[in-house]
Amino acid sequence: MSWPLSPELLAPLAPWFERVRRDLAWRAQDLDAPHPDPYAVLVSELMLQQTQVATVVPYFARWLERFPDAATLAEADEDAVHKAWEGLGYYRRARFLKAAATSVAAEGWPGDLEGLAGLPGLGPYTAAAVGAIAFQWPTPALDGNAFRVLARLLLIEGDPKARAADLRTWLVPALGALGPSRLTQALMELGATVCAPAPACGACPLGDHCAARLAGRTADIPPVAKRAKPRASTLWLVAFEAKGQFLLQAPAARGLLAGLWRWPTFDAADHGAEPVLRPGSITAWLGWTQVYTHRREAVTPLRIGLEAPFTPAGGLRWVPGTELQGLPLGKRDQRLRDLLVTPGQPPLESPDPARLIRACAAPSA
Ligand code: SF4
Repeated sequence: MSWPLSPELLAPLAPWFERVRRDLAWRAQDLDAPHPDPYAVLVSELMLQQTQVATVVPYFARWLERFPDAATLAEADEDAVHKAWEGLGYYRRARFLKAAATSVAAEGWPGDLEGLAGLPGLGPYTAAAVGAIAFQWPTPALDGNAFRVLARLLLIEGDPKARAADLRTWLVPALGALGPSRLTQALMELGATVCAPAPACGACPLGDHCAARLAGRTADIPPVAKRAKPRASTLWLVAFEAKGQFLLQAPAARGLLAGLWRWPTFDAADHGAEPVLRPGSITAWLGWTQVYTHRREAVTPLRIGLEAPFTPAGGLRWVPGTELQGLPLGKRDQRLRDLLVTPGQPPLESPDPARLIRACAAPSA
């Protein structure tokens, strides 16, 4: 490893960060002392995984108001936790946060990185970030932003994650010299705002010594990973309504969608469209494309009015319309909930309601 020493190379980050740092609710004023509220750091780190700062700001404020400390969150009802997370996506994070808070409330904060990494939902990056920002431990936190900055700064060929162990060792002296919390947050900030995928090198405090910049290689370092094409599907998203009640899928206990209520969906490939025979009973709204990391759904929302509820199959429940607002739903399903109070159109065609009902009804005895 013939990299320049990290304290010297990264030193300009400290005065730069002092100048540009945003005043965010989870940031301590004093970056040389342990954070006064490690729980706030934990909440912010989990919220910031895969979510932009601007989106997190109002969620963080509401969350801390609702669950001001680990003990309150540990005792909170699961539905209330999911409801407070509603709209942030990746709901696993909310469950991990509650589980981590439960552990902290019962046993206190772990005393080292290994203990932090053992808390639910804290991978090596989040554990190291919480260690550095909350406790001032010299634990190098490498996320996608930090890998990109360091790959360019040190002209690392290939995937910089393959050099993670070397990079962590290299960073430790700089964490000691510049302060773990300050350096960790400065690196994140630089990666998010200046050394973005298309870097603004003219505004970079590290520009004079950045090897990729000096070599004219900022465009190809690090190499962009090829993403698999997202799987495409076309769905009917259906709100069956009968006597003021709506049919929903109750939350699963595990998996990506655990804790969330869902509308029944039907793949258009299996449930083709036919002319609507009783237009008054079906309402449609303009569809949209829902984009997830690995899939894209073309969604058509429908409300199908029934004269009476049927006995639903396992996992489906009739829920009074008055309770809909209080249920935690994912983003796609929130959209249909919001549409239900807006005027829709009678569709020209829809899947056959009788077939959909058969798919959702309990088998008759
Ligand atoms: S000079 Fe450019 S490529 Fe190098 S670290 Fe700064 S922003 Fe990134």
